[in-house]
Amino acid sequence: MNIAIIGAGLSGATLCRNLSPLGTVTIFEKSRGIGGRMATRQSIDAAWDHGAPCFIARDNGFKQFLQPFLNDQTLTEWHPKMTTLGLNQKAYKRTWFEPHYVGQPTMNQWLKALFAGHSVETQCDIQSIYGEPGKWYLASVGRNHGPFDWVLSSAPLAQTQVLFGGFNFDLAARYQPGFTLLCELAFSPSWDRAVCQDPVVAELILSGRRPGRHPGKTLVVHAQDQWASEQIASEPAMVEQTLRRAAEALLNTDFDSAKLHRWRYAQVIEQAASTHWLQPALQLGACGDWGGTQGAESAFISAKALSAALVHKGPKNQ
Ligand SMILES: Cc1cc2nc3c(=O)[nH]c(=O)nc-3n(C[C@H](O)[C@H](O)[C@H](O)COP(=O)(O)OP(=O)(O)OC[C@H]3O[C@@H](n4cnc5c(N)ncnc54)[C@H](O)[C@@H]3O)c2cc1C
Repeated sequence: MNIAIIGAGLSGATLCRNLSPLGTVTIFEKSRGIGGRMATRQSIDAAWDHGAPCFIARDNGFKQFLQPFLNDQTLTEWHPKMTTLGLNQKAYKRTWFEPHYVGQPTMNQWLKALFAGHSVETQCDIQSIYGEPGKWYLASVGRNHGPFDWVLSSAPLAQTQVLFGGFNFDLAARYQPGFTLLCELAFSPSWDRAVCQDPVVAELILSGRRPGRHPGKTLVVHAQDQWASEQIASEPAMVEQTLRRAAEALLNTDFDSAKLHRWRYAQVIEQAASTHWLQPALQLGACGDWGGTQGAESAFISAKALSAALVHKGPKNQ
């Protein structure tokens, strides 16, 4: 059986791992690298985890799934020195009461381990699907891929809607947009992660202080949700400047450099009516963090539910 998966984030990686015993799995990813919203931006001597800074696991299935990667230290618990920061406000220490996990040495290294041994076609933006059940083709710019027996999308819901809209894909979800600034600092603060009391900046994370990282002065700045929602259609240069100035004011410094990343679909705030979508007669399916509101854990749960449904209702068992 030939299975095509669209999207190389955590839900695509979970699908790939669960479904590889059924046949050949090929993954198509529109970005240059894998990871989706758990991606890492790299320069010659620095790396920024500019999507999810970490994640938690409350679901037992997710905990079991993570365990081998915790054993071989592809994943590790993160214990940052945390503080609060606000203009003219006294900083105080913060603590976490449950484990928070990060990939080591970068966030997407864990995703790379999940995809190991499978063909991931990066820089391949799938624009449409055509054919028939058991003989599907995917079209990217100037290229066709296939045939595939099954096509599964793990893209954010709105992007899946574009691909599967003509096949009765009728789920809806709402996402919080976000902005992230990737900076280089000239000095080394005493904290690793700062939660900010500020209308523009939500938090600051020193990327190089995370487990297994190059010990550089790389800083990731995440914008406040409400401010990001208000600015989502604004000119990127203006957003970058406002976010940069707000972070520089909080730290009372000037950054050596800063680069903006916009997340149109950062985190789910209203989940879909179903954990996943499967049309056995069409041999099409979809999953993603839109199946819940717990970020990475929801991506895993949705992909696990789709894999289980496909194994039970797939062609062999119809
Ligand atoms: C700034 C930020 C902070 C976050 N913080 C947390 C946190 O603290 N804790 C937590 O649990 N979660 C957090 N999250 C959310 C978490 O990262 C996501 O829930 C999770 O990574 C989603 O995984 P996914 O596989 O469902 O989707 P994605 O990671 O988005 O993967 C989907 C992939 O599909 C690709 N794609 C889309 N359309 C196409 C197409 N047409 N053709 C080919 N490829 C396509 C995309 O490029 C992407 O790589 C955060 C996210 C962001 C952005």
